[in-house]
Amino acid sequence: MDFKEYQKESIKTDLNVVVKNSNLAYYALGLCDEAGEVAGKVKKLYRDYNGELTEEYKKEIEKELGDVIWYLSQMCTKLGLDFNEVAKMNLDKLNSRKERNKLSGSGDNR
Ligand SMILES: [Mg+2]
Repeated sequence: MDFKEYQKESIKTDLNVVVKNSNLAYYALGLCDEAGEVAGKVKKLYRDYNGELTEEYKKEIEKELGDVIWYLSQMCTKLGLDFNEVAKMNLDKLNSRKERNKLSGSGDNR
């Protein structure tokens, strides 16, 4: 499955689209919420499991990463963007930085 297909399928699970009361803030907050859940799982890995990553725990992190992708996809849809193209554009940007030896440093448009 590619991001384009994911975007098309995942929108079917967006309750806010169905009730037509969604806005961009809802998705931005959801994205931050789910990213926080990823960070929380990693924090608890160290707090509760001495940093020892099991396959079972990795699966739990994987689920949260999937939730992050869901919100990314819905944000793309809400903005009228092709999720696949967003991913491709990001890779193109990073490859350009790599070629120009600009992977490190700061500035969005370096
Ligand atoms: Mg989650």
